[in-house]
Formats: sequence, C-alpha cells, structure tokens
Amino acid sequence: MERTPVRQALTDLAAGSEITVGGWVRTVRTSKGGFSFITLNDGSCLASLQIVADEKLPNYGSQIVSLTAGASLLVRGKLVESPAKGQRVELHATEVAVLGAADAASYPIQPKHHTYEFLRTVAHLRARTNTFGAVARLRSALSGAIHEFFQSRGFLYIHTPIITASDCEGAGQLFRVTSLDAANPPRTPDGRVDFDQDFFARTTYLTVSGQLEAETYACALGKVYTFGPTFRAENSNTPRHLAEFWMVEPEMAFCDLDGDAALAEEFLKHLVTIALTRCRQELEFFNEQVEDSVIAALEGVAGGQFARITYTEAVQRLEKSGRHWTFPIPWGADIQTEHERYLTEELFGRPVILTDYPASIKPFYMRLNDDGRTAAAMDVLVPRIGEIIGGSQREERLEVLAERMTSAGMKLDDYRWYLDLRRYGTVPHAGFGLGLERMLQFVTGLANIRDVIPYPRTPRSAEF
Ligand code: ATP
Ligand code: MN
Repeated sequence: MERTPVRQALTDLAAGSEITVGGWVRTVRTSKGGFSFITLNDGSCLASLQIVADEKLPNYGSQIVSLTAGASLLVRGKLVESPAKGQRVELHATEVAVLGAADAASYPIQPKHHTYEFLRTVAHLRARTNTFGAVARLRSALSGAIHEFFQSRGFLYIHTPIITASDCEGAGQLFRVTSLDAANPPRTPDGRVDFDQDFFARTTYLTVSGQLEAETYACALGKVYTFGPTFRAENSNTPRHLAEFWMVEPEMAFCDLDGDAALAEEFLKHLVTIALTRCRQELEFFNEQVEDSVIAALEGVAGGQFARITYTEAVQRLEKSGRHWTFPIPWGADIQTEHERYLTEELFGRPVILTDYPASIKPFYMRLNDDGRTAAAMDVLVPRIGEIIGGSQREERLEVLAERMTSAGMKLDDYRWYLDLRRYGTVPHAGFGLGLERMLQFVTGLANIRDVIPYPRTPRSAEF
C-alpha cells in the first residue's frame, strides 16, 4: 500500500497532487452541506491532515458519517489549497477505505484532555496522542543523533552483554538471571541455592552498565561506545528512575578527566542542537503544552559554556547558601537532587560539571586523585533534572585498583579479566554514561520519566 506521509503532504507537496494517505481518525465533523471533515493523523508529524469527504462517495452514508476517533483509513484524493486557518492544504477524497472501525464507547483516546496517569494505563494506545507521538519522534531523532555523534568522531559501536556476571556499581541493584525452578531450586549440602546447577553454572545478572566490558574494547581499539538497555532494581519510586532504561556509554583510551568532561559537553550540545533543528515542531509543542522554559533552556545549553566546579567547592557553596537542606551536606556526604538542582538552577543557571568527589562515595573503578581522598569523577547536572551524566577517569594502576577492590570486599579473582587490562599495556582511560530518558526529560520538559519511554518498568509495574 503505497502512501504519502502526512508530513510530506502538509509541507512539501503542491496543491493538485494526487496522493494516498493512511492513518487514524482524530476527529470527524459532518456538515449539513453534505460533507464530512475528518482529521487524520499518521504519526509522521504533529499535525493532522484535514480530509474533506463528499456525500457523493459511495460509502458516505454507510460508513463515513459514522466514523469515530481511532478508526483507521486509507484515503485517496487530491491536495487542494485550504481555506481553513493554520493549514496550507487539505485532501479532497476520491476514495475513503475504512480499514478498521473503532468502537466509540470503549476507545480510550478521545479528543479531550487525558492525564498522564490515565495514559500510562493505556500505554499500548498512547502513541496515538500528540504528546506521545512527539516523544517517540524525539526519542528516535536523539537515538540517531547519538550514533551520528560518535560515528563521525571515529568511535566504534560495540555491543556489550546484557547478561553479565559482574556488578559494576557494587550497589546491590541487580536483577538476577536464572533458569532454576524458583519453587524448588537445587540446594547445596548446607541448604543454600546451588547456582552451580544454574544455566551458566554461576550467578548472573542483567547488566547495570556496559562500562567494564567497554573498557576492554577501548583498551584495544581506542574510542568506543555502547548504547543499550540497562537494568537497575532500584526500589525507589522517583520521577527520574526506571528499572529498565537506555544508557549511552563512550569509553576512551588515552583520555583523562578533562578530556572526558570536554566530550560530555560537546555531546550534550550536539544532542540539543539536533533536537532544536530537526524536531522544531515537537519542541514548540512541548514548550506550549508542557513546560514553557524548554526551548530557552535548550538554546542556553547549545550556545553557552558549562560551569565547572569541584565537589569540595560545591559543598562550601551549599553550606554558604543559607538554605535548609533536607539532606545535610558535610564534606563526604553524597550530593542529593536538591543540591544538584540548586547548583545548576540557582547558583549557575546553566549546566554544571561537578568533579572530584570523595572516593569513599564512588565505585572502585574511579581513579584515585593524588590527595588520596577524592576520585577523578564527574557528574553533569542540568536544570530541572539534576544528574544527567555520570562518568570518571578509570583507575589504571594495578596496585591501587586491587587495593580499592579488596577494601570494598570484592573478590579479585572474579575480576581477573578487568585487572588484566592493568597488567598488560595499561593506559589512562575515561568514559561516562548518559541516560537517554533523563535527556528526553530535559528536552521535553516532561516531569515523569515514565512518560519518555514506551513501556516503563518501575517497582510493581511491568504491564504490556
Ligand atoms: P542517580 O544518582 O540519579 O540514581 P546514578 O549515579 O546511579 O544516578 P550512574 O550510575 O552514574 O547513575 O548512571 C549514569 C547515568 O544513567 C545517570 O547520570 C543517569 O542519566 C542514568 N541513570 C542512572 N540510573 C537510572 C535509572 N534508574 N533510570 C533512568 N536513568 C538512570
Ligand atoms: Mn552517577
């Protein structure tokens, strides 16, 4: 079924063109003069195409006048300059094929305002709304832009495993992968579950990050990135955490923290610029309907320089702010969202790269600074979101790394392959992780991360 995207019909094609479009009915209005006006959306752009159907069409009385929202149509006709405001052309139908009717009494997506909460309960149909169609187009454009950015800079795209035996973050947020019978697992003589008899003859998990494996490829190929689904059993119900999200992780050999921070800034600017140029209509929609600071914030990011500040300086500024913090922030405490937002929204009013955190609150793989108490870590903070990127220079010195792993209670033997990188031709290297959904929250202004991924997985919720 050859069809023209509505986007193309509305923007590119001359009046007089004969085309076929296919899509889903948004609204129908029948006038006394023997016409029906149908707005048809096919997801190719925000706008719908107005179809004018004349009573002379053979199925006018039997089908067209009783069309309702959600029905699917294939319409052949001629584009005509439109007398109506806000659209260049409309389609005068010569044939309207009704492929699937939609029962008006039960179709959940009616032409009226629906709450985000309600739409999450009909996630299989919410892509037919303006908001979720726009999110999907942005998500796709940004995914493409991610590949473009790295490919054009000589990074190799590598596929790191989804099932892994290593716990990168060491934070106990892992989903176990097993094929054992949960009701009756094999047991060791002392009564524990015997994972020796499991599929992989060991305990395995869904990955929380592709970083450790990406490091191995960076230390052979120079510059690599991985981009894929990531799983964290965070039992916190927040508007910024999903149990399944998509993370982009570049990793670079011969790179230090400064180079890492520079790449992160360039990367965010690239993504924002692509959104502003390729998804202008979507952004205007979000700016009007969701959050009226979105476009200004994005333009600020694209054009301005990010602020840089160390953790130690940040703690001093937070103390001096005179604010009452829900989480007090003495040196050594972890920075919370309230602090992140103060720094980026109020103190600087632009993105902030926060560096050199206390080593004690950061994972074992981050490089220990010469002061012996901070690590070469960085987080990039943006307004409204807080942390959008987390990264670091990695510890490349075998003894220092082994010492940190031992004191974190890790078994060196389990990470033999990771330590080998430091045994054979070690090299300074660095990388970071960007959560695609946090980026989409920033770009769309949507407050809840459940609304920027098609099927959100959160505690107690994995429908569809
Ligand atoms: P946070 O402190 O916000 O929980 P984190 O420090 O645990 O995040 P990292 O391990 O640094 O996160 O992961 C890198 C990036 O991945 C984060 O900066 C964020 O953009 C994204 N991210 C992390 N956890 C989640 C999650 N549960 N849902 C969505 N995105 C996430
Ligand atoms: Mn982080």
